[in-house]
Amino acid sequence: MNERDSEQVAHSLVTRGYEQVGHESEADVVLLNTCSVRDMADQKGLGKMGMLGRLAKERPHMVFGFLGCMAQARGGELLEGLPHVDLVVGTQKFHRVADYVDELITRKKENAERPTLNTQRPMENRMDDLRFSIVDVEEEAGSQSTIRDQQLTLKQATAFVSIMQGCNMHCTFCIVPQTRGSERSRSISDIVAEVRDLVSHGIKEVTLLGQIVNLYGRHEFPKVDGKSPFVQLLEAVHEVEGLERLRFTSPHPIGFREDLIDAISRLPKLVEHVHLPLQSGSNKILKAMHRAYTAEKYLGLVERIRTARKGIAITTDIIVGFPGETDDDYRQTRDLVKQIQFDNAFVFRYSPRRDTPAAKMPDQIDERVKEQRNQDLLETVNESNRRILERLVGSRVEVLCEGPSKTNRERLMGRTRTNKIVVFPPSPKRRSTDENQEFVGQLVNVRVERANGFSLYGMPLLE
Ligand code: SF4
Repeated sequence: MNERDSEQVAHSLVTRGYEQVGHESEADVVLLNTCSVRDMADQKGLGKMGMLGRLAKERPHMVFGFLGCMAQARGGELLEGLPHVDLVVGTQKFHRVADYVDELITRKKENAERPTLNTQRPMENRMDDLRFSIVDVEEEAGSQSTIRDQQLTLKQATAFVSIMQGCNMHCTFCIVPQTRGSERSRSISDIVAEVRDLVSHGIKEVTLLGQIVNLYGRHEFPKVDGKSPFVQLLEAVHEVEGLERLRFTSPHPIGFREDLIDAISRLPKLVEHVHLPLQSGSNKILKAMHRAYTAEKYLGLVERIRTARKGIAITTDIIVGFPGETDDDYRQTRDLVKQIQFDNAFVFRYSPRRDTPAAKMPDQIDERVKEQRNQDLLETVNESNRRILERLVGSRVEVLCEGPSKTNRERLMGRTRTNKIVVFPPSPKRRSTDENQEFVGQLVNVRVERANGFSLYGMPLLE
């Protein structure tokens, strides 16, 4: 979601004539789009902005801003202790950023030209003279429809499409309802138009994004023929000619009704991958988290999804060390994870977020215990992940080539429909760089030769 919001902000600046540069030291404007979902993300954002203060001293004309969830949660308090920060913009105001940046640049220019500015004064005081900041963390009706422009690179195979904002679920550990507001959805026609435009620019795969994506449109649009607005949207996007693959993330188990399971079984462009957050395998902890399903219901749902589509990959999110989680609660989580055999899982140590009910619960768990459970669960997850990847060795998989591998630019990388990363050489034969570039954005059949813990490696089959 943050990546997508950053693309939108980048697009709005580029259309005004700004250029993207490779490093902050070359920039006149540095905007950090922040995450607040765990304390570590907050601390990273604050630490990074603190380090940027050095640049501000050397080049006082620079503009520095915080955007996104931490900006929304902390507002003007972010200006305290970070005197070089000029801009704080919340999650419903990304479309205003370009105006604000323009305004700040103009103000700084005017101030710098003011004859009264005493250049003999120490730099800190001069920065005070120039201080003018903008904080905008207000709600704005219709803001969910403003994340719709894409800043595509020349060769790009996949894109995110933001279909809704906010969440009304109020899981007791989660800060998202505070930072992203209540659920608001874009219209189906607006989303389909964006996907059509993406496909006309060479995009082959889109991922529909929402904090609670499968409950899309439940407040705005009616069911039609027993189908939820989300299933109606899937069907409409599925119709877009030239689109090869369709993904969505992240759903909530309680929004997984029969119409969605049926869509998984009958819409071929929907890929064989569902990310289905579990959070805990203990019913006591699920209740305390306000998750509104039981471990048994979750397991039943996994079985229904697996029956609906053969070979479908299921990944998940799990929190360990939620307040009150005993050894026995943790064991129930680990047992369920073993039983389900997830393709992969993001395991998080519980991180108290301010103004959330769980942060005030008794029986907060010691960090060492959280860490032990985290490591232990990761081993369990890695085992099933490794087994699933190894089973693919010798098989042929369809890969959508996304570009050069991050760790070896000589190789290409892409993903299978089940979201497994595959790394492969541009060609078994010698081909020109241009020919190899042509793989990017193409569906390539690859024979898998080996697997490590996280990726597959193979050879493209040129038919
Ligand atoms: S459903 Fe997801 S985004 Fe919404 S409150 Fe729960 S964890 Fe947070």
